[in-house]
Amino acid sequence: MKGQIVARTCLHVCAQTQRETRDTHNRARGKRDTMGLFLKGITLPVKLAHTRVQFIDVPSPTRVILPLLQHLGDPAEPTVSVGDTVRAGQLIAEAPTEAALPLYASITGRVTALTDTLDCRGKELRAVVIEGNGTTSPPAPTETSPDLSSLSEAALLTRITRAAVVTKGPHPVALARELVALREPSTHLSLSGRRVVRPIDILLISALDPEPSLGVNRYLAGITSETLPAGIAALKALSGAERVVIAVDKNLPPPDPLLTLAATDEQETTTIVRLNGRRYPVGLPVPLIKAALGREVPLPYGHPRDVGVLICDLETTTSVGTAVTTTTPPLSTMLTVGGGAIGTTGVVQVPLGTTASALIDSLGGFTREPAKLIFGGPMTGMAHYELEVPLTKEVTGLFALTAEELTMVGEYRECVNCGRCVTVCPVNLVPGMLSMYCAKDRFPEAAREGLLSCIECGCCDYVCPSRRPMVHLFRHAKHQLMETGPEERVI
Ligand code: SF4
Ligand code: SF4
Repeated sequence: MKGQIVARTCLHVCAQTQRETRDTHNRARGKRDTMGLFLKGITLPVKLAHTRVQFIDVPSPTRVILPLLQHLGDPAEPTVSVGDTVRAGQLIAEAPTEAALPLYASITGRVTALTDTLDCRGKELRAVVIEGNGTTSPPAPTETSPDLSSLSEAALLTRITRAAVVTKGPHPVALARELVALREPSTHLSLSGRRVVRPIDILLISALDPEPSLGVNRYLAGITSETLPAGIAALKALSGAERVVIAVDKNLPPPDPLLTLAATDEQETTTIVRLNGRRYPVGLPVPLIKAALGREVPLPYGHPRDVGVLICDLETTTSVGTAVTTTTPPLSTMLTVGGGAIGTTGVVQVPLGTTASALIDSLGGFTREPAKLIFGGPMTGMAHYELEVPLTKEVTGLFALTAEELTMVGEYRECVNCGRCVTVCPVNLVPGMLSMYCAKDRFPEAAREGLLSCIECGCCDYVCPSRRPMVHLFRHAKHQLMETGPEERVI
């Protein structure tokens, strides 16, 4: 009992000291934060932030595994059976509910199994397996409408839904459902307790990547896409945005295609904002909105639409453009590969459902013994033990790290109260204190201190001299809070 009281007192003193560190840091920072810009976070070393993004051509796989559920929603229902021959782009599963999306074959071949597979989070999902016959070209689009003005908003939405366009990154959502929600202006409570109604006025296109070590958006920023202008026009029309802001990385050569796009906008509503892409986590939605537009998304339950913003990355916007002009669904995904155990670093484009093992084989296999496999970026991705995992829109990167590249090795130590995590947290939390609450299963107290506002960027992990696995502790705590139900979530 006495021990418990001492432990609680120590925890209280540590928490108090860390809160004071945050307040001191914020007071100093407030003097400089005159433009509402994003100032916290970390600057990653150049080797993690590509100065050039190279595209690596990889052969098409001989087999794909297509999970029936690839977004937050309901699974699709197969319309094919084992033994059926399918063409790339052919419907193989339909959406039985409004929360489901249809599924299309990503390669031409034969259905060899309807089986269970693991996704990048280790969750078991039902999937359709297709063995390819070497043909990759999709069927000709059935409807084409290069002139979007001939399409009503309902027709645009139908095309996006039918093409099953989802947002890129962890927790993909059906884009059409997001857009439907935007048509009804959302309301939220301001800090003063006033209910705010804010329609969308800005479409923010991100040519930055969620992490500096990922490169898909920065690669796309440098190439000309025929469907990008149509994607921007469709998103602008559906969201009602008056302005388009394109956020680009100022460390890369000028993205000429995007500059031309802005210069040729007859309505003069498109602007380019240059940000330091090496400053992490400027590419994540909440900090990006703050850095590019000076608007602060109300956390923990806020959404970009609460501050009048629709945010979309370049790959998704291009998919929207293809969907509305040609009705072709996205059949491939782009991701970044890297890490010391893979001999090369760059961006690849593979058919949806390509397995991680097939991709690594096509890159020449591991060049060194991998110690850790990460799906996603090194800062926010998920560690995995299995290579037979299909690559979907959820996977932004595939990194195979060697033992020498791992910084989080061995046991973590007690917090030494140095306050470094406080000075980097982009959403102004006190991560050390939160990690102590979470490690001791004191989840309601962690929630009261703002745990649910954490955007899981991993900056605190990165700087912690005690190597505390804070994001891991926070994810576990959030999961526990979700399990216990809202009435138990003391906020
Ligand atoms: S992981 Fe969460 S607590 Fe840690 S720095 Fe990022 S937002 Fe802050
Ligand atoms: S950086 Fe690590 S050791 Fe320092 S206060 Fe934060 S949790 Fe504690």
